[in-house]
Parts: sequence; C-alpha cells; structure tokens
Amino acid sequence: MHPPIIKKTLAHLPLAPNWVDSVQAREAFSWQVEASALVGLPGGGLNLAYEAVDRHAQSAHRWHTALRMLDRNGGSCDISYAQLSIQSNRFANVLKQLGVVPGERLFVLCARGLELYLGVLGGLKLGCVVSPLFCAFGPEPIETRLRLGEGSVLLTSETLYRRKVAAIRERLPALKHVLLYDDNGGDTVCIDGTLNLHQLLMQAEEAFTVVNTTADSPALLHFTSGTTGTPKGVLHVHGAALTHLVTGKYALDLHPDDVYWCSADPGWVTGTSYGIFAPLLLGVTSVVEGNEFDAERWYRILEGQQVTVWYTAPTAIRLLMKAGAALARSHRFARLRFIASVGEPLNPEAVWWGQEVLGLPIHDNWWQTETGGIMIANTVAMPIKPGSMGKPLPGVEAAIVAREEKGLVFLGDNKVGDLALKQPWPAMFRAYLGQEQRYRQCFVGEWYLSGDLVRRDADGYYWFIGRSDDVIKSAGHLIGPFEVENSLMEHPAVAEAAVIGKPDPMLGETVKAFVSLKRGFIASQALHDELLGHGRKRLGAVVAPKELEFVQALPHTRSGKLMRRLLKARELGLPEGDTSSMESPS
Ligand code: ATP
Ligand code: MG
Repeated sequence: MHPPIIKKTLAHLPLAPNWVDSVQAREAFSWQVEASALVGLPGGGLNLAYEAVDRHAQSAHRWHTALRMLDRNGGSCDISYAQLSIQSNRFANVLKQLGVVPGERLFVLCARGLELYLGVLGGLKLGCVVSPLFCAFGPEPIETRLRLGEGSVLLTSETLYRRKVAAIRERLPALKHVLLYDDNGGDTVCIDGTLNLHQLLMQAEEAFTVVNTTADSPALLHFTSGTTGTPKGVLHVHGAALTHLVTGKYALDLHPDDVYWCSADPGWVTGTSYGIFAPLLLGVTSVVEGNEFDAERWYRILEGQQVTVWYTAPTAIRLLMKAGAALARSHRFARLRFIASVGEPLNPEAVWWGQEVLGLPIHDNWWQTETGGIMIANTVAMPIKPGSMGKPLPGVEAAIVAREEKGLVFLGDNKVGDLALKQPWPAMFRAYLGQEQRYRQCFVGEWYLSGDLVRRDADGYYWFIGRSDDVIKSAGHLIGPFEVENSLMEHPAVAEAAVIGKPDPMLGETVKAFVSLKRGFIASQALHDELLGHGRKRLGAVVAPKELEFVQALPHTRSGKLMRRLLKARELGLPEGDTSSMESPS
C-alpha cells in the first residue's frame, strides 16, 4: 500500500512555482490585477485571439515559437507568434471576403494541424463564434452539432469532407461556405460547392483589424462529452481569456520558456482551452501532435521534444500503464517537470505510477465544459493526496451544497454534496444552446451547481465521489462509484473497472462491477470470487460489489470517459440513449 500523501519541498522544484498556496496568497489574489496582463483592443474591447497571438506578435516575443507541429515521420515545423498572427489575419480576411459577419458560427472539423489553429484564431478575430469538432466523429454527430449550432461556415479537409460531410450537406441549409484544404499539404482541392482554403489564403491580405468584440461577446461553442446524456452545446465568451491565462499560470505552472504538450484534441474543451489558448496567452511553445495514441511515439515526443509540462487524461495514462513500465523506462524525460490530468477521476494507482515510472507524480485537476477552465487542482508546489482532485484555484470559490426546496444548504467538511462554484468567473459558460431553462436550473442565487458529488477533507482537499447520476444508494448509504473502482483497480489483475447501481427491492440498489483484465490474466470463477472478496475486504460488505462481470472492454466516450450510464442501460434492458459520442460501438 502507498502512503496517503506525496510531499514536496520548494527546494526540489526545478523552477520557482507561479503559485505557492497560502492564506495570504489567496487573499492577495485579484482578477483585476491578473487582468492587467491582457492589453485589450485599441477600441477598448477584448478579443481572445488578439490576446493569445497578436499581443505577442507586437512585442519582443514575436519570433518565439508558438507552435511546433510534429509530423508522423518525426519531422517538425515551427510557427512563431508573428507568423501565426499574420496567417490568422489572412484567414479572417478570407472569411470577410466571403461576406461572413461577426456572430456567424464557424465550425472547424480538422485534424491537429496549422489549418485548425488558423481557423479558430482567424474566426475569433472576425468575431465569429467558433466550434471545433472532433474529427473522428461520424456524419451523424457532425450533422447534429452543425444543425444545433446553425453553422454557416465549415473548415475541413478534403478527405474529411468526402467521408463525413458530403452526404449530409443537403440537410444543412444554414451552411453557406465550406473551406477545404488538402490533407497532405498540397494545394489542389476540387469538389463542387466548396472553396479552396489555401488559394484564398494566398490571395488574402496580411493585415486585419480585429473586430471590436468585448469580454461578453460569444466566442466559442463547445459540446460536452455526452457521458450522461445527449451532448449539450455550451457557449463561452471572449472574456474566458482571463481564466485561461490565470489557470495556465497557476494550475499548469506555465513559464515562458516551457515546451508544453496538451495531448487532448481541440474537439473537446480541454484541447481548446489548454491546447490552444492557455499556452498562447502565456507565450509558451506548444507541441502539436495529431496522430492516434501510440505509447512508444508518445514517449518519444516527451523525450525528443524535451517537453517540460504535459497535460493529459486518465484514459491516456491508463493506456501507458498498460503498455508497461519497461517501455517508459527506456526513455529519459530529462526536462519534464510537471504532469497534469483531467477529464475523469484519476486513480491513486495512476498518480503513483507517474511518480515511480516517469519520475513525477500526476497532478489531477477538475473542471467541466461549463466552467471553461480549471477550477480545482493539485498545483506544482502542493503536497498531493493521490485520489483527490486538489484545492480550488485562486479566484475560485467552491462550496459543497445540498439543493433543498427552501434553497441551498451548505455542508461542512467530510459531507458529500453537490460541488458548487460562486459565479461569475471569466470563463463561466453563458448558455446551453437552445436550452435556456436547463441553463437557468444550474444556478441557485450566486452559485453554479456542477452536478458532481464531492467531499472536502479537513485540509481543504476535494475528493470526487461521482456524478450525481452515477452515485449509488444502497441500504441508506451513498456509494461513489470511483471509490469502488479504485479499490478494484488496486488488484493486480484489473486493467479497468466500472460500477453501477442495480435496483434491489430490499436495499434500494446494489453495486455491480464490470471489470476488464490486464494482459496475461484470464477470467475465471476463482478470479471472480477473489475480486469480490478483495472488494469486501477493502470496502466492507455494504459498499463492495455484490455482482461482478468480466468484459473485454468498457464503453467510453470518444474523449475517453467511462460511460456508466450505458452499462446500466444494458444491464437493465433500457434504451441506450444518445451514443453519438461513444468511442466505438461495442
Ligand atoms: P455530459 O455533460 O455530456 O454528460 P461530461 O460531463 O463528461 O459530459 P465534460 O464537460 O467534458 O462532459 O466533462 C466534465 C465532467 O468530467 C465533470 O463534470 C466530471 O464529472 C468529470 N471530470 C472532469 N475532471 C475530473 C476529475 N479530475 N475527477 C473526476 N471527475 C472529473
Ligand atoms: Mg457534464
């Protein structure tokens, strides 16, 4: 068994951290002071792309590498802040020439390459609302999102268009312009009813006056992961820049000379807030890698690119763990100084695996599409309690509440309740597209209710219990699936575990576990009984699973999250609901 805490001392950190948690530092934090890092537009407004790129392009930082685009063959191409500024200006001019006006919705369905960045940044410069889509989506989820978002412009590649958009185009009457580029960097694109992006870019002017958006102007439309139901369209504003900047600095500890890698795809909010904006706002160099997961290549990137800060997800860490410690140990991560993870609960096993195999613990942090940026985090100078998501960041006021008829009841330490955040903060979402009432229901007075159940310990650390939809009530006890899954994962045979509640006439619900095994282990009655016994020993009979089923693989969203609702629907013979964001039908 591992100890419950990983201690750190400032003397062991290779760089002075941006955030050292103390009562005084928290009290001294002010959004207004942090906002002075942003310059604003000459006309008095605020524009996310201007702050992220043009601000640096007009400073001594202009030739610093903004993006290091990696290709499949080990080559790379560096793009400076100055180049990114000019190229995104050209993109904005292309849109303008087409008659696109501020407020129109631009969808970006691109693999991680330069075009994606130009589309997002150029679109924002013209005041469009930009929606990056995950390019592994099939035609149906693309159509649903484009329709809901009333996309009038689409940027995509020739191959993606042929495979995924051509057949649905007729059903998208709002879609006026489709800008295409060749997947292999060539300049010949010829499909009727589409425009050739690179030809238009070449003809476009380099200078562009950024549209005078304000902190409250809509900027980005993101779709949630669809873990608990139909994905929601979440609208964010240009003012989110301040959250991206502050959290990049304090939660990810970004420093100007960092080489940073966010392995999330910009089709998800992490890949946009932290794959595009936070590093650009802080003037660092981002490694951009767009290929499918491959453990060997990922280690080669961390080593070869001398990555210093890496932001990833539990699903990727689990895959690396599965690939074995020997592979990791055949590489040296000499400059790597900070690893963070988001998206799902991070099992203590994974935090320790980082410490033991990569030489650094993995720092879990918590946020949602709705919050637009990191809210709760294990920061660089803080001791880690593996299994905890850390503490609220400076500027974030969190509480644990119960929603009752007469209003909110605030709960003390070690009580389980809904995680609430005091509004507003700069990146707070401003709408669920087409669902005004649902949006309003998220707020009670000055508090936003996240829908996640958590507990806070006496040291102020937050512990994830489960989404309110996933929590199990058995014999009067509230059981968090994460705790049960963690304990199963401690068993050497278990690769991944998911638990659900099954209706039970006596107990309300009982816990059922689904387990996939590590390579080299075979499902058997003996192992089944051993795992149930292991659960009972660790968790006690009330909380431990009563049933356990071996599965080849567990269902995940395309962003890598366990879909417990699907396991439950299947188990109970209920409709599966929206599976459009599922990884691959199984
Ligand atoms: P949907 O809202 O469509 O069901 P989703 O909630 O998975 O999908 P996201 O906004 O991408 O969509 O994910 C945010 C959620 O992911 C959080 O509300 C939380 O449940 C979970 N999550 C994120 N980070 C963590 C973390 N560090 N620990 C535990 N859970 C996390
Ligand atoms: Mg959600």
